[in-house]
Amino acid sequence: MENDKKLVTILVPAYNEQEVLNLLYDRLKKIMDELTKYNFEVLLINDGSKDNTFKIMQELRKKDNRICYLNLSRNYGKETAMIAGLDYSKGDCVIIIDADLQDPPELIPKMLEYWEQGYDDVYAKRRSRKGETFMKKLTSKLYYKTLQSVTNIEIQKDTGDFRLLDRRCVEALKSIRESQRYTKGLFSFIGYNKKEILYDRDPRAAGQTKWNYGKLINLSIDGLTSFTTAPLRWSALIGILISIAGFIYMLVIIFKTIFNGIDVPGYSSTMVVILFLGGIQLIFLGVIGEYLGRSFYETKRRPLYFIDRYNEEKETNKDLNK
Ligand code: UDP
Ligand code: MG
Repeated sequence: MENDKKLVTILVPAYNEQEVLNLLYDRLKKIMDELTKYNFEVLLINDGSKDNTFKIMQELRKKDNRICYLNLSRNYGKETAMIAGLDYSKGDCVIIIDADLQDPPELIPKMLEYWEQGYDDVYAKRRSRKGETFMKKLTSKLYYKTLQSVTNIEIQKDTGDFRLLDRRCVEALKSIRESQRYTKGLFSFIGYNKKEILYDRDPRAAGQTKWNYGKLINLSIDGLTSFTTAPLRWSALIGILISIAGFIYMLVIIFKTIFNGIDVPGYSSTMVVILFLGGIQLIFLGVIGEYLGRSFYETKRRPLYFIDRYNEEKETNKDLNK
């Protein structure tokens, strides 16, 4: 390996991706062979797959020594797989790419070009999303809108995790050790020089998406609660409004009683008020609980992940999870 060439790490989180890994390797290989200006390291993260993903990774490494792999001790989810990859990446820049070829590797040369021009974070923005349902597109649009309206940092719309990060972005992300990670927001949070590239997102090459609505809803709530305490404020504001309304209504009832005497019927209105207020209280307790839960997880300060193997070596966690 020549030392004057820059090292580029291509980071691929993979969970049950046996159908696509070889395809991905072929596409990546073509690009790596063309870009002779750089040295490459392809860091495949096996996020506790239950199929042959890990075996294929080992075979790929035998074929091509540019391939490295990291075997996590179980399935932790993509967010954690990515931080594990960043921890183990050695490159002067890191390109994060999905295993399923939804992110075309052919964009990599252009990303590197912008990197050479001095950009620290070159992210690919989807112009279109083929192979995704109308509902998924709509909900994701609505979600980004809400998230943006309540946070101070700029959230990038229609942007996945497909991006090039300069070493200093990588170090910044590594220094953030929160366990309920919402990486999409963290990319914005760390700042630095950003550049966008537009592309058409392809449908999955093969295999199944690992997301379902349950997981997406959880990720959305994590996104909201890790970047803003606005929901807590909303609760307080709505609480104040309801108290004011309640106070006015109380005055009305007092005056009515004074002038018209005691008015016995009132079962339905009482029930409505009790149920309404009870519901609101439960919702807001839930909101508070969300934040409390987050603090609970973060205060435990557990390591984010455990490693089974880095390449051929059996690993135990060193001081990576500071
Ligand atoms: N992934 C992962 N761990 C998981 C789920 C997914 O590492 O628990 C990886 C997956 O292998 C893929 C990427 O994250 O490389 C994106 O997942 P997927 O394609 O299922 O998501 P989508 O593109 O549908 O949003
Ligand atoms: Mg995908």
